Amino acid sequence: MAAELKAKGVRVVDFGAGEPDFDSPSVAVEKARLSLAEGFTKYTPAAGLTDLRHALLERYRRDFGTPWRELEEVVITVGAKAALFELALALYDHGDEVIIPSPSWVTFAEQVRFCGALPVPVETSADDGFRIHADAVLGALSGATRAILLNSPCNPTGGMLAGDDLRRIVEVAADRDLVVIADETYERFVYDQSSFPSCAALAAEFPNTVLLVGSFSKTYAMTGWRVGYLLGPPEVLGSVAAIQSHATSNPTSFAMTGALAALNGAEDDVAAMIEEFRCRRDLVVAGLNRLSGVSCKPPSGAFYAFPRVSDCYANGQGSLEFASFLLDEAGVAVVPGVAFGADDHIRISFTCSREELDEGLGRIERALA
Ligand code: PLP
Repeated sequence: MAAELKAKGVRVVDFGAGEPDFDSPSVAVEKARLSLAEGFTKYTPAAGLTDLRHALLERYRRDFGTPWRELEEVVITVGAKAALFELALALYDHGDEVIIPSPSWVTFAEQVRFCGALPVPVETSADDGFRIHADAVLGALSGATRAILLNSPCNPTGGMLAGDDLRRIVEVAADRDLVVIADETYERFVYDQSSFPSCAALAAEFPNTVLLVGSFSKTYAMTGWRVGYLLGPPEVLGSVAAIQSHATSNPTSFAMTGALAALNGAEDDVAAMIEEFRCRRDLVVAGLNRLSGVSCKPPSGAFYAFPRVSDCYANGQGSLEFASFLLDEAGVAVVPGVAFGADDHIRISFTCSREELDEGLGRIERALA
Protein backbone atom coordinates (compact mmCIF):
# COMPACT_ATOMS: atom_id res chain seq x y z
CA MET A 1 0.00 0.00 0.00
CA ALA A 2 2.85 2.37 0.84
CA ALA A 3 4.49 1.61 -2.51
CA GLU A 4 1.23 2.31 -4.35
CA LEU A 5 0.89 5.66 -2.62
CA LYS A 6 4.49 6.54 -3.42
CA ALA A 7 3.91 5.62 -7.07
CA LYS A 8 0.99 8.09 -7.10
CA GLY A 9 3.35 10.82 -5.95
CA VAL A 10 2.31 10.88 -2.27
CA ARG A 11 5.26 11.60 0.01
CA VAL A 12 5.22 8.69 2.44
CA VAL A 13 7.55 8.64 5.43
CA ASP A 14 8.67 5.04 5.42
CA PHE A 15 9.29 3.46 8.83
CA GLY A 16 8.81 -0.01 7.34
CA ALA A 17 12.20 -0.91 5.89
CA GLY A 18 14.21 -3.71 7.47
CA GLU A 19 17.53 -2.48 6.16
CA PRO A 20 20.02 0.28 6.95
CA ASP A 21 19.71 3.40 4.82
CA PHE A 22 23.53 3.66 4.59
CA ASP A 23 25.58 2.90 1.49
CA SER A 24 27.52 -0.34 1.40
CA PRO A 25 31.16 0.28 2.43
CA SER A 26 33.25 1.65 -0.43
CA VAL A 27 35.92 -1.05 0.12
CA ALA A 28 33.27 -3.68 -0.62
CA VAL A 29 31.94 -1.87 -3.67
CA GLU A 30 35.44 -1.34 -5.09
CA LYS A 31 36.44 -4.95 -4.48
CA ALA A 32 33.29 -6.31 -6.14
CA ARG A 33 33.82 -3.96 -9.08
CA LEU A 34 37.41 -5.17 -9.42
CA SER A 35 36.34 -8.81 -9.20
CA LEU A 36 33.89 -8.28 -12.05
CA ALA A 37 36.49 -6.47 -14.14
CA GLU A 38 38.99 -9.26 -13.53
CA GLY A 39 36.51 -11.92 -14.59
CA PHE A 40 35.92 -13.41 -11.15
CA THR A 41 32.52 -14.46 -12.42
CA LYS A 42 32.54 -18.25 -12.33
CA TYR A 43 31.29 -20.85 -9.87
CA THR A 44 33.09 -21.03 -6.54
CA PRO A 45 32.94 -23.99 -4.14
CA ALA A 46 29.25 -24.57 -3.34
CA ALA A 47 29.81 -23.77 0.35
CA GLY A 48 31.34 -20.42 -0.59
CA LEU A 49 34.63 -18.71 -1.21
CA THR A 50 37.47 -20.38 0.67
CA ASP A 51 39.14 -17.09 1.65
CA LEU A 52 35.92 -15.73 3.09
CA ARG A 53 35.32 -18.92 5.03
CA HIS A 54 38.84 -18.79 6.50
CA ALA A 55 38.36 -15.13 7.38
CA LEU A 56 35.09 -15.86 9.21
CA LEU A 57 36.63 -18.78 11.11
CA GLU A 58 39.42 -16.44 12.18
CA ARG A 59 37.07 -13.57 13.10
CA TYR A 60 34.97 -15.78 15.37
CA ARG A 61 38.02 -17.45 16.90
CA ARG A 62 39.53 -14.05 17.67
CA ASP A 63 36.36 -12.41 19.00
CA PHE A 64 34.67 -15.32 20.79
CA GLY A 65 37.26 -18.11 21.18
CA THR A 66 35.23 -20.42 18.97
CA PRO A 67 36.53 -23.95 18.29
CA TRP A 68 35.77 -23.84 14.56
CA ARG A 69 38.97 -24.18 12.52
CA GLU A 70 38.05 -26.24 9.46
CA LEU A 71 36.37 -25.25 6.22
CA GLU A 72 33.74 -27.93 6.94
CA GLU A 73 32.61 -25.84 9.90
CA VAL A 74 31.50 -22.80 7.91
CA VAL A 75 29.13 -22.34 4.94
CA ILE A 76 28.56 -19.03 3.16
CA THR A 77 24.90 -18.72 2.22
CA VAL A 78 22.61 -16.50 0.17
CA GLY A 79 21.89 -14.29 3.17
CA ALA A 80 21.14 -15.42 6.71
CA LYS A 81 17.68 -16.31 5.46
CA ALA A 82 19.07 -19.11 3.30
CA ALA A 83 21.29 -20.30 6.17
CA LEU A 84 18.20 -20.63 8.39
CA PHE A 85 16.17 -22.30 5.67
CA GLU A 86 18.86 -24.82 4.77
CA LEU A 87 19.33 -25.56 8.45
CA ALA A 88 15.59 -26.12 8.81
CA LEU A 89 15.64 -28.54 5.90
CA ALA A 90 18.64 -30.35 7.34
CA LEU A 91 17.30 -30.62 10.89
CA TYR A 92 13.53 -30.77 11.16
CA ASP A 93 11.21 -33.70 10.61
CA HIS A 94 7.43 -33.82 10.70
CA GLY A 95 6.20 -33.32 14.25
CA ASP A 96 9.41 -31.78 15.60
CA GLU A 97 8.99 -28.72 17.76
CA VAL A 98 11.13 -25.61 17.50
CA ILE A 99 11.05 -23.13 20.37
CA ILE A 100 11.01 -19.50 19.22
CA PRO A 101 10.84 -16.53 21.61
CA SER A 102 8.04 -14.25 20.42
CA PRO A 103 7.31 -11.66 19.05
CA SER A 104 9.63 -12.89 16.36
CA TRP A 105 10.72 -12.29 12.81
CA VAL A 106 8.02 -13.59 10.46
CA THR A 107 10.26 -15.95 8.53
CA PHE A 108 11.25 -18.19 11.46
CA ALA A 109 7.87 -19.84 11.95
CA GLU A 110 7.20 -20.14 8.21
CA GLN A 111 10.44 -22.01 7.61
CA VAL A 112 9.71 -24.36 10.50
CA ARG A 113 6.20 -25.04 9.17
CA PHE A 114 7.54 -25.55 5.66
CA CYS A 115 9.44 -28.56 6.98
CA GLY A 116 6.36 -30.01 8.68
CA ALA A 117 7.63 -29.05 12.13
CA LEU A 118 5.82 -26.96 14.72
CA PRO A 119 6.94 -23.51 15.90
CA VAL A 120 6.45 -23.15 19.67
CA PRO A 121 6.31 -19.46 20.57
CA VAL A 122 7.54 -18.34 23.98
CA GLU A 123 6.18 -14.93 24.88
CA THR A 124 8.50 -12.10 25.86
CA SER A 125 7.09 -8.95 27.44
CA ALA A 126 7.26 -5.23 26.74
CA ASP A 127 7.47 -4.69 30.52
CA ASP A 128 11.12 -5.71 30.65
CA GLY A 129 12.13 -4.65 27.15
CA PHE A 130 11.29 -8.05 25.65
CA ARG A 131 14.18 -9.78 27.39
CA ILE A 132 14.40 -13.47 26.57
CA HIS A 133 14.34 -15.42 29.84
CA ALA A 134 15.88 -18.87 30.15
CA ASP A 135 13.09 -20.09 32.46
CA ALA A 136 10.40 -19.31 29.91
CA VAL A 137 12.34 -20.89 27.06
CA LEU A 138 13.19 -24.03 29.03
CA GLY A 139 9.59 -24.26 30.27
CA ALA A 140 8.51 -24.85 26.68
CA LEU A 141 10.71 -27.93 26.20
CA SER A 142 8.90 -31.15 25.38
CA GLY A 143 9.82 -34.61 24.18
CA ALA A 144 9.31 -33.36 20.63
CA THR A 145 11.66 -30.36 20.87
CA ARG A 146 14.36 -30.48 18.21
CA ALA A 147 15.81 -26.98 18.37
CA ILE A 148 15.72 -23.65 20.17
CA LEU A 149 15.90 -20.69 17.82
CA LEU A 150 17.24 -17.54 19.46
CA ASN A 151 17.39 -14.14 17.81
CA SER A 152 19.32 -11.67 19.92
CA PRO A 153 19.13 -8.74 19.34
CA CYS A 154 15.62 -9.44 18.16
CA ASN A 155 13.70 -8.26 15.14
CA PRO A 156 11.11 -6.76 15.83
CA THR A 157 11.52 -6.00 19.55
CA GLY A 158 15.21 -5.15 19.94
CA GLY A 159 15.16 -7.45 23.01
CA MET A 160 18.29 -9.34 23.97
CA LEU A 161 19.40 -12.33 25.98
CA ALA A 162 21.58 -11.84 29.02
CA GLY A 163 24.74 -13.95 29.13
CA ASP A 164 23.57 -16.11 32.06
CA ASP A 165 20.20 -16.87 30.44
CA LEU A 166 21.97 -17.82 27.24
CA ARG A 167 24.33 -20.14 29.10
CA ARG A 168 21.49 -21.93 30.91
CA ILE A 169 19.62 -22.49 27.68
CA VAL A 170 22.67 -23.89 25.92
CA GLU A 171 23.59 -26.11 28.89
CA VAL A 172 20.14 -27.67 29.04
CA ALA A 173 19.97 -28.03 25.26
CA ALA A 174 23.33 -29.81 25.29
CA ASP A 175 22.13 -32.15 28.05
CA ARG A 176 19.13 -33.08 25.96
CA ASP A 177 21.00 -33.38 22.70
CA LEU A 178 19.17 -30.46 21.12
CA VAL A 179 20.64 -27.68 19.03
CA VAL A 180 20.53 -23.95 19.71
CA ILE A 181 20.34 -21.89 16.56
CA ALA A 182 21.54 -18.36 17.29
CA ASP A 183 20.54 -15.84 14.65
CA GLU A 184 22.93 -12.99 15.38
CA THR A 185 22.15 -10.95 12.30
CA TYR A 186 21.97 -7.79 14.45
CA GLU A 187 25.01 -8.55 16.63
CA ARG A 188 26.63 -5.17 16.04
CA PHE A 189 23.48 -3.14 16.70
CA VAL A 190 23.80 -3.17 20.49
CA TYR A 191 23.29 0.08 22.38
CA ASP A 192 23.43 -0.29 26.15
CA GLN A 193 26.22 -2.73 26.83
CA SER A 194 29.85 -2.68 25.90
CA SER A 195 30.03 -6.36 24.96
CA PHE A 196 27.48 -8.52 23.25
CA PRO A 197 26.71 -11.93 24.83
CA SER A 198 27.13 -14.00 21.70
CA CYS A 199 26.20 -17.66 21.59
CA ALA A 200 29.49 -18.11 19.73
CA ALA A 201 31.29 -17.67 23.06
CA LEU A 202 29.73 -20.96 24.24
CA ALA A 203 30.65 -22.98 21.17
CA ALA A 204 34.01 -24.16 22.55
CA GLU A 205 32.23 -25.68 25.57
CA PHE A 206 29.22 -26.98 23.65
CA PRO A 207 30.52 -27.70 20.14
CA ASN A 208 27.66 -30.01 19.17
CA THR A 209 24.94 -27.66 20.35
CA VAL A 210 25.67 -24.19 19.01
CA LEU A 211 24.80 -23.24 15.43
CA LEU A 212 25.65 -19.65 14.65
CA VAL A 213 23.90 -17.71 11.88
CA GLY A 214 25.28 -14.35 10.77
CA SER A 215 24.96 -11.92 7.91
CA PHE A 216 26.67 -9.13 6.04
CA SER A 217 23.27 -7.58 5.29
CA LYS A 218 22.72 -5.31 8.26
CA THR A 219 26.22 -4.90 9.75
CA TYR A 220 27.65 -3.64 6.46
CA ALA A 221 24.48 -2.23 4.88
CA MET A 222 24.76 -4.92 2.20
CA THR A 223 21.24 -6.35 2.15
CA GLY A 224 21.04 -6.65 -1.63
CA TRP A 225 24.35 -8.49 -1.93
CA ARG A 226 22.83 -11.56 -0.31
CA VAL A 227 25.72 -12.88 1.75
CA GLY A 228 25.20 -14.62 5.07
CA TYR A 229 26.81 -17.58 6.80
CA LEU A 230 26.52 -20.43 9.20
CA LEU A 231 29.11 -21.84 11.62
CA GLY A 232 28.76 -25.04 13.58
CA PRO A 233 29.54 -28.75 13.87
CA PRO A 234 30.65 -30.37 10.59
CA GLU A 235 27.99 -33.11 10.73
CA VAL A 236 25.17 -30.57 10.46
CA LEU A 237 27.07 -28.24 8.16
CA GLY A 238 27.79 -31.10 5.78
CA SER A 239 24.04 -31.57 5.30
CA VAL A 240 23.55 -27.84 4.88
CA ALA A 241 26.33 -27.68 2.28
CA ALA A 242 24.78 -30.60 0.40
CA ILE A 243 21.38 -28.91 0.38
CA GLN A 244 22.94 -25.66 -0.79
CA SER A 245 24.84 -27.40 -3.56
CA HIS A 246 21.51 -28.59 -4.98
CA ALA A 247 19.55 -25.43 -4.22
CA THR A 248 21.55 -22.30 -5.09
CA SER A 249 25.13 -23.56 -5.47
CA ASN A 250 27.51 -20.89 -4.21
CA PRO A 251 26.41 -17.35 -3.31
CA THR A 252 27.40 -14.81 -5.99
CA SER A 253 31.17 -14.87 -6.51
CA PHE A 254 31.86 -11.13 -6.62
CA ALA A 255 29.41 -10.44 -3.76
CA MET A 256 31.57 -12.72 -1.61
CA THR A 257 34.82 -10.92 -2.50
CA GLY A 258 33.06 -7.65 -1.62
CA ALA A 259 31.91 -9.16 1.68
CA LEU A 260 35.46 -10.25 2.47
CA ALA A 261 36.71 -6.71 1.83
CA ALA A 262 34.01 -5.39 4.18
CA LEU A 263 34.97 -7.89 6.88
CA ASN A 264 38.62 -6.84 6.65
CA GLY A 265 38.32 -3.12 6.09
CA ALA A 266 34.99 -1.51 6.94
CA GLU A 267 35.18 -1.20 10.72
CA ASP A 268 35.09 2.62 10.61
CA ASP A 269 31.96 2.55 8.44
CA VAL A 270 30.28 0.16 10.87
CA ALA A 271 31.21 2.19 13.95
CA ALA A 272 29.92 5.42 12.40
CA MET A 273 26.67 3.76 11.36
CA ILE A 274 26.02 2.25 14.80
CA GLU A 275 26.65 5.61 16.46
CA GLU A 276 24.06 7.21 14.21
CA PHE A 277 21.58 4.43 15.02
CA ARG A 278 22.14 5.03 18.71
CA CYS A 279 21.17 8.71 18.31
CA ARG A 280 18.14 7.80 16.24
CA ARG A 281 17.02 5.23 18.79
CA ASP A 282 17.04 7.83 21.55
CA LEU A 283 15.23 10.31 19.34
CA VAL A 284 12.50 7.93 18.21
CA VAL A 285 11.87 6.47 21.67
CA ALA A 286 11.57 9.93 23.23
CA GLY A 287 9.26 11.05 20.41
CA LEU A 288 7.05 7.97 20.70
CA ASN A 289 6.68 8.29 24.47
CA ARG A 290 5.47 11.89 24.00
CA LEU A 291 2.48 10.61 22.01
CA SER A 292 -0.62 10.05 24.06
CA GLY A 293 -1.54 6.37 24.28
CA VAL A 294 1.89 5.19 23.08
CA SER A 295 4.56 3.59 25.25
CA CYS A 296 7.96 2.38 24.18
CA LYS A 297 10.95 1.07 26.11
CA PRO A 298 14.30 1.77 24.42
CA PRO A 299 15.26 -1.30 22.38
CA SER A 300 18.56 -2.79 23.59
CA GLY A 301 19.58 -3.69 20.06
CA ALA A 302 18.68 -3.95 16.35
CA PHE A 303 17.15 -0.90 14.65
CA TYR A 304 13.47 -1.15 15.44
CA ALA A 305 11.25 0.52 18.01
CA PHE A 306 8.31 -1.67 18.98
CA PRO A 307 5.88 0.62 20.79
CA ARG A 308 2.65 -0.49 22.39
CA VAL A 309 -0.07 1.45 20.61
CA SER A 310 -3.27 -0.45 21.44
CA ASP A 311 -4.54 2.43 23.63
CA CYS A 312 -4.81 4.40 20.39
CA TYR A 313 -6.99 1.83 18.65
CA ALA A 314 -10.55 2.75 17.82
CA ASN A 315 -13.23 0.15 18.45
CA GLY A 316 -12.51 -3.10 16.65
CA GLN A 317 -9.10 -1.94 15.44
CA GLY A 318 -6.01 -4.08 15.57
CA SER A 319 -2.46 -3.26 14.52
CA LEU A 320 -3.24 -3.89 10.85
CA GLU A 321 -6.11 -1.39 10.83
CA PHE A 322 -4.03 1.05 12.85
CA ALA A 323 -1.14 0.78 10.39
CA SER A 324 -3.61 1.46 7.54
CA PHE A 325 -4.91 4.46 9.44
CA LEU A 326 -1.37 5.83 9.84
CA LEU A 327 -0.70 5.34 6.17
CA ASP A 328 -3.95 6.98 5.04
CA GLU A 329 -4.13 9.80 7.56
CA ALA A 330 -0.46 10.53 8.22
CA GLY A 331 1.31 9.16 5.17
CA VAL A 332 3.54 7.09 7.49
CA ALA A 333 4.31 3.44 6.76
CA VAL A 334 4.86 1.13 9.74
CA VAL A 335 4.67 -2.65 10.11
CA PRO A 336 1.69 -3.97 12.09
CA GLY A 337 2.74 -5.97 15.13
CA VAL A 338 0.30 -8.76 14.31
CA ALA A 339 2.77 -9.89 11.64
CA PHE A 340 5.20 -10.74 14.45
CA GLY A 341 2.57 -12.13 16.81
CA ALA A 342 1.99 -8.93 18.85
CA ASP A 343 -1.21 -7.15 17.85
CA ASP A 344 -0.87 -4.40 20.48
CA HIS A 345 2.27 -3.11 18.81
CA ILE A 346 3.65 -1.63 15.61
CA ARG A 347 7.23 -1.80 14.36
CA ILE A 348 9.02 1.40 13.49
CA SER A 349 12.38 1.09 11.76
CA PHE A 350 14.77 3.91 12.49
CA THR A 351 16.50 3.31 9.21
CA CYS A 352 15.86 6.81 7.94
CA SER A 353 17.36 10.23 8.66
CA ARG A 354 16.69 12.07 11.90
CA GLU A 355 14.77 14.67 9.87
CA GLU A 356 12.48 11.95 8.52
CA LEU A 357 12.03 10.52 12.00
CA ASP A 358 10.96 13.97 13.24
CA GLU A 359 8.69 14.44 10.28
CA GLY A 360 7.07 11.00 10.66
CA LEU A 361 6.56 11.39 14.42
CA GLY A 362 5.03 14.82 13.88
CA ARG A 363 2.64 13.40 11.31
CA ILE A 364 1.62 10.58 13.64
CA GLU A 365 1.00 13.08 16.44
CA ARG A 366 -1.25 15.19 14.22
CA ALA A 367 -3.15 12.14 12.94
CA LEU A 368 -3.75 10.87 16.48
CA ALA A 369 -4.94 14.28 17.60
N1 PLP B 1 17.34 -12.81 10.61
C1 PLP B 1 16.62 -11.76 11.06
C2 PLP B 1 16.24 -11.72 12.49
C3 PLP B 1 16.24 -10.73 10.19
O1 PLP B 1 15.53 -9.69 10.66
C4 PLP B 1 16.61 -10.81 8.83
C5 PLP B 1 16.20 -9.77 7.88
O2 PLP B 1 15.37 -8.93 8.12
C6 PLP B 1 17.36 -11.91 8.42
C7 PLP B 1 17.70 -12.88 9.33
C8 PLP B 1 17.74 -12.08 6.99
O3 PLP B 1 18.94 -11.46 6.69
P1 PLP B 1 19.64 -11.71 5.30
O4 PLP B 1 19.48 -10.45 4.52
O5 PLP B 1 21.07 -11.99 5.66
O6 PLP B 1 19.01 -12.87 4.63
